[in-house]
Amino acid sequence: MKIGIYPGSFDPVTIGHRNIIRRAAGIFDRLIVCVMVNAAKNPMFTLEERVDFLRRVTADLPNVEVDAFDGLLAEYARAKGNCVIVKGLRAGSDFEYEFQMALINRKINPGLDTMFLTAEHQYTYLSSSTVKELGEYDVDLSDFLPEQIISDFKKRIATIRQGGKRQ
Ligand code: ADP
Repeated sequence: MKIGIYPGSFDPVTIGHRNIIRRAAGIFDRLIVCVMVNAAKNPMFTLEERVDFLRRVTADLPNVEVDAFDGLLAEYARAKGNCVIVKGLRAGSDFEYEFQMALINRKINPGLDTMFLTAEHQYTYLSSSTVKELGEYDVDLSDFLPEQIISDFKKRIATIRQGGKRQ
């Protein structure tokens, strides 16, 4: 059984991420969407919230599971066994970084492959950080976020506006 692992920050999951998840779920027997802890980033949503959002958004996909990991992706993949890393590629700017990460992961875990799925053209502009910026304004978020998480996203934006904590 071939396992795909789709790692990322998912802060929060966008419809661009969901598109990659659906396509990868059709390629692999089992797909693990893994929320990675990144100490360099200051997330808007806690790890638990991001996992919960992903679970809601993938509830209709029986071969998809959601996990979280604080450590090296190459080590996580080693523990899972026969797997391939899945990444979404938006533009040239993603490529440089992702190419380097794929090589580093292979160096740490020889034989670990990374598969790139090109972003659907209508989502190439979309990133979690763009959505967080747009959240400040009165725009229709259904063009960017899965419907299952929009009200939670709006609540967090409102809390931040009132001077509350980011998470
Ligand atoms: P971001 O904060 O930029 O959205 P993530 O770390 O959450 O990034 O992204 C996880 C993975 O999803 C990465 O491989 C990234 O390239 C990919 N990805 C992010 N947004 C999109 C999109 N709109 N279309 C396709 N892939 C995407």
